[in-house]
This record gives sequence, C-alpha cells and structure tokens, in this order.
Amino acid sequence: MTKKKALITGVSGQDGAYLAKLLIEKGYKVFGGEKKVSKKNLWRLKELNIEDKIKIIPFELSNEANIIREIKNGNFNEIYNLAAQSYVDKSFSRPVYTSDVNALGVSRILEAIRQFSKKTKLYQASSSEMYGNVKTKRKNEKTKFEPLSPYAISKLHAHWMVNMYRNAYDIYCCSGILFNHTSPLRGEEFVTKKIISDLIKVKYKIIPCLILGNIHVKRDWGYSVDYVEAMWKMLQQKKADDFVISSGVTHTVRDFISKVAKRLEIDISWQGKGLNEVGINKKTGKTIIRIHKKFFRLNDIDYTYGNSLKARKKLNWKPKTSFDNLVKIMCDAELKNYR
Ligand code: GDP
Repeated sequence: MTKKKALITGVSGQDGAYLAKLLIEKGYKVFGGEKKVSKKNLWRLKELNIEDKIKIIPFELSNEANIIREIKNGNFNEIYNLAAQSYVDKSFSRPVYTSDVNALGVSRILEAIRQFSKKTKLYQASSSEMYGNVKTKRKNEKTKFEPLSPYAISKLHAHWMVNMYRNAYDIYCCSGILFNHTSPLRGEEFVTKKIISDLIKVKYKIIPCLILGNIHVKRDWGYSVDYVEAMWKMLQQKKADDFVISSGVTHTVRDFISKVAKRLEIDISWQGKGLNEVGINKKTGKTIIRIHKKFFRLNDIDYTYGNSLKARKKLNWKPKTSFDNLVKIMCDAELKNYR
C-alpha cells in the first residue's frame, strides 16, 4: 500500500513537531514546510528523534508561486497549516506582516488546492484568541467572535476563508479552534514555559526573580500532544467541519505559578496588589516574583474557557492530560536540563 503523504507547515514549532511524530507513527510520509530551512530551527524534531524521518521543503506563506509549486507537485493527501506569526503581542507591532502570513497565506493555500489539488484535505489552525472578550462564558463553535489583536483578526480572516471554500467549492477543509496548549517544546516567549524556566533558574540561584505582566488573566490550558491528535481526527471524518479543542478547565497565570512552585518545592506567599504584587519565598523571605508593566498587553483577553463537547461527541476526542499532570510533565522535562 502506498503511504499517505502529509505536509505540515510550521513543522519546526511545538505542534508541528508533535503532529509529525504522530503521523510518522501512523505510517504517513511526512513533509515539513519551512520558511527558512536551517538545522538550528529543527531542534524540536531532533528532541523527538524524528529529524531524519521528515523531508523539509521550502514553504513561505507570503510567496504565492512557492505555494502553488509545492502543492501542485506534492500530491499531498493532507495539509496541516500550522505555520503562522504566532505571537499575540508581536502582532501589535507587526500587523501587516501578521495579516500577510496568517490571513493571506491561508488564501494562497486554499487557492492552490482549488486550482491544482482538489483532493487534498486541509487542516487550518484557528485560535481561541478569535473570541476576544465575548461575554459567553464557555465558548463553542457557535459562539460569536470578537477579536482583539491583529493576530486574532488575521486568524479569523483565515477561519472564514476556510468556511467559504468548504461550502462554495466542496473542498475538504476545516479549522480547529484550539485553546491554549503547551508542552516541554513550547518556546520561552509563552508564559507557561517562561514561568517554569525562570522559576528553576531562581531555584538554582541563576537569576534573582521571575518578572511577569498580568497574572490574573485565566487560560484554558491543555497538552499539545493531546491536541495534535484532534487535528488528525478532524481530517479523517466523512464531512469536513470545524471543532473547538479545549481542556474545559481554566486557571489564572498565578495558579500556574503556584503549581509550578509546588512542584519545584518552593513555598510562595503572595503579597500586595497590581504592579506591587509580589511572590515571596517563605523559606528565605526573598521576593522571587515581581510584576512589570512592560509585560502587559495593549489589549488582553481576561479569560479563555472552551467547550469541546462537539469534538468529544463527533471525533471521540477528549484531553487525556490534566492541568496538574501538564505542570508535572513540563517541570520534570525542564529540570532534566539542569541536572
Ligand atoms: P497567548 O494566550 O497565546 O497569548 O499565550 P501567552 O502564554 O503568551 O500569554 C498568556 C497570558 O499570560 C496572556 O494573557 C499574557 O498577557 C499573560 N502574561 C503575563 N505575563 C506574561 C509574560 O511575561 N509573558 C507572556 N508571554 N505572557 C504573560
């Protein structure tokens, strides 16, 4: 039997690497689309021991000719578009680039599929950021979108394009509205990884304290390994559809810090309010967590909280990793680097 061919754009990122591993295990021939093909970027694939099992091809979302060439010649059964300008705060300083890559990049892929490869199925990485601060408590596929950042607006453009191509051209394409998800392979730009990495540095006296922005926002965090399985499941259905993927529990950034500290055997007491709030190491009396306004966002989402009932019913998917277990997995992986 010939192997199924899958292209993962953004294969060097957290989700790209875990998804590549999953598809290789399922017997796919995996191609990784990358803007710049450099060994340095591929550390996650190396970490998962799959670097030699993936063929990396140049894939630049802002380059239409490149996209058409690769999709026309690739004969892919499935494309997972995970490549993006994925930093919400950076999107405020680079709104045009963010739209070009995250919004128009998806139009370029859809057009290439429509014109040259209509049988190729497409998974598009949508985001819970698209909901902004809409009043509905738990968000599902029917909840209205109120995007707050250039990042969220660009993702919403792509989301509706996928919807339109599915209905107008009968192309199998769908969007996964993924809530926050993290793992040991998360970049340090994201708060979960930053907290763990810096608190370990504090523990080993490499730095004096962890400095953060708003720690009272709430996030619905899941484990990336569980979430890439949902992406694959979305492309194995009879009919393409969009799905919310979330853990269904929400915690403040401060809760996350407290859990991490506990795992690292640091006893914290919280004092003060707002910019003066601090976390103190009870044993030493030293301030090890501080707040600085430079880490606050122009426009932030107060909480994310998803309802993935549809995925549970139709995809038979559910998150396998609890919040506590996620913290444990991430802390233990990071601690290994220090031992
Ligand atoms: P996002 O939800 O995809 O933007 O993921 P992040 O991990 O970057 O941010 C999650 C939340 O943590 C946001 O509401 C941030 O405002 C908040 N946060 C507070 N302090 C920090 C910080 O120092 N770095 C980051 N990245 N986020 C922070």
